[in-house]
Amino acid sequence: MSTPETTPVTTDVATAPPVLEISSLCVDYGVGQGAVRALHDVDLTLRRGEVLGLAGESGSGKSTLAYAVTRLLSPPGVITGGDVRYHPRGGEPVDVLAMTPQELRAFRWQEISIVFQGAMNSLNPVHTVRTQLTDVLKAHRPGMSRTERVERARELLSLVGISPDRLSAYPHQLSGGMRQRVMIAMALALEPEVVIMDEPTTALDVVMQRQILRQLVRLREELGFSVVFITHDISLLIEFSDRIAIMYGGRIVEQAGAAEIYRDPRHPYSDGLLHSFPALRGPRRELTGIPGSPPDLKAMPPGCAFHPRCPKAFDPCDRRVPRLAPVGTDTDRSVACWLNDDRRSGEA
Ligand code: ATP
Ligand code: SF4
Repeated sequence: MSTPETTPVTTDVATAPPVLEISSLCVDYGVGQGAVRALHDVDLTLRRGEVLGLAGESGSGKSTLAYAVTRLLSPPGVITGGDVRYHPRGGEPVDVLAMTPQELRAFRWQEISIVFQGAMNSLNPVHTVRTQLTDVLKAHRPGMSRTERVERARELLSLVGISPDRLSAYPHQLSGGMRQRVMIAMALALEPEVVIMDEPTTALDVVMQRQILRQLVRLREELGFSVVFITHDISLLIEFSDRIAIMYGGRIVEQAGAAEIYRDPRHPYSDGLLHSFPALRGPRRELTGIPGSPPDLKAMPPGCAFHPRCPKAFDPCDRRVPRLAPVGTDTDRSVACWLNDDRRSGEA
């Protein structure tokens, strides 16, 4: 595992105001008797200008969270509770869950954009990069002339490190890394305040993944947007994010600064994840992985959902659900684990 090197939490980011506040968010798949809970009371704040990494094994609820906060969740997914507030620059907070379809159309792309898993394969194969970039501008910036749109498309390609000459290329004429950069350019087209990236680089080799992430972090410094970066590879997040939130069984189980999680993971699951991914640089950690498999939503273990796999499980763990709570005097770290919670004799 490499030592965090690219984005130390600057004082500005660490104390920046929130841009997106998620409180007690719950999502079920299905309704009535057959419903299963995929998100349990998720609390998460994205600060203005920060890169927040969201990590966890497959099925932990990362994509469900991304779809829910952008209101892109489709049936059988249902938001059953909670609150999502967007704080526009210089404006009053907006209740995202109460937005009308018309408000949502303006909200997505302009305020918040999302790059999905495998997005590079969703470019239209029969249209050039120019057409696909300018179409977004045409739909959302009706006042722009054709020349202005093409000029902006050139600028966007340069931003993501692709020569503007490639505007006339079709997707199949570009490498996977370039197609993914085009998707990122599209996500940035309307200068959103928040960009959510759901495993955008997993289909690429590790060198390309890091190149793209490095560029994204540089762009965030230039343009000031905030990023939620979702991946199961925590080593990438340690390098590129300011803070990390770790999910297990539909809950956030730990959140803290990236360097703090790297140095001193407080949740046994975070520790297991850190020992599951090889480092490209820096001192080696023994890769031990995490025994067992993630829980099945239909048969969630009682108490702490991680207890059947946890090497440190003890008395209250299989009976009572630990809540996410601040640890000691560190106001920027919270953990959901009885090992770190002196309320274990209290009400769960
Ligand atoms: P991955 O890294 O594999 O994308 P994830 O952490 O993003 O995983 P989600 O895709 O959010 O996890 O899934 C969370 C849980 O919700 C999983 O148990 C999954 O099986 C379940 N789930 C997701 N979509 C549906 C659906 N359409 N119907 C029923 N269950 C679903
Ligand atoms: Fe392990 Fe118990 Fe902490 Fe869960 S609450 S992670 S089972 S020690």
